[in-house]
Amino acid sequence: MFAFFFFNDTATSEICTRSLVGSVRCVLETAPGVGKGTQAELLASKLNLPHVSTGAIFRSAISEGTDLGLKAKAFSDSGTLVPDELTTSLAIEAISTDKCPNGFILDGFPRNINQAQALQESLNIQNRNIDFVVCLTVPENELVSRMLNRGRVDDTEEVIRTRFKVYEELTSPVLDFYKNIMEIIQINGVGELNEISERIVNSLVK
Ligand code: ADP
Repeated sequence: MFAFFFFNDTATSEICTRSLVGSVRCVLETAPGVGKGTQAELLASKLNLPHVSTGAIFRSAISEGTDLGLKAKAFSDSGTLVPDELTTSLAIEAISTDKCPNGFILDGFPRNINQAQALQESLNIQNRNIDFVVCLTVPENELVSRMLNRGRVDDTEEVIRTRFKVYEELTSPVLDFYKNIMEIIQINGVGELNEISERIVNSLVK
């Protein structure tokens, strides 16, 4: 079971004239290998919103050898979470109203309950809300082969196993956190990329 959570502010695309009128905030949170990065990118481009991926921010910091990258590398390499003190303020800053005046597609954050609470508090202070939580589902046996096929350096079998364990223990409770405050839209994550993307967009305009 995986989740996309959607947040943003203003309808920016004709696709979403119905339910996205007013304010839309989107967060994507899924188990490893579901393809949330790809789907987040597609959705962001369709809705003309920024795609904010904490994983991508860390990967770019690591490849540039910045201070953040040096601190994040060991965690990212082993498939464990980068500590909240490095992650939370960075993610919240990346989706600030200044940077994302019309909303955002947030991918890979929040990844544990602390992060979810911090995000919620920050949005409350700004009078912003979560508009959609979309949960993308893919059978577990398909996930490992998808990950082994994408060829990312942190996709060795051992690291993949750790990422699943981290997801089960720390990230899946984030879904329960959102279930308590809103309805989660379930989407079948099996199929062609564009087909899945359409399912997501259609679920938002219902
Ligand atoms: P995945 O494909 O496993 O979902 P991501 O691209 O989202 O991977 O993240 C890659 C790595 O970056 C994670 O394994 C983790 O080390 C780090 N990371 C990304 N987002 C977070 C977060 N919200 N909190 C802590 N660590 C994170």
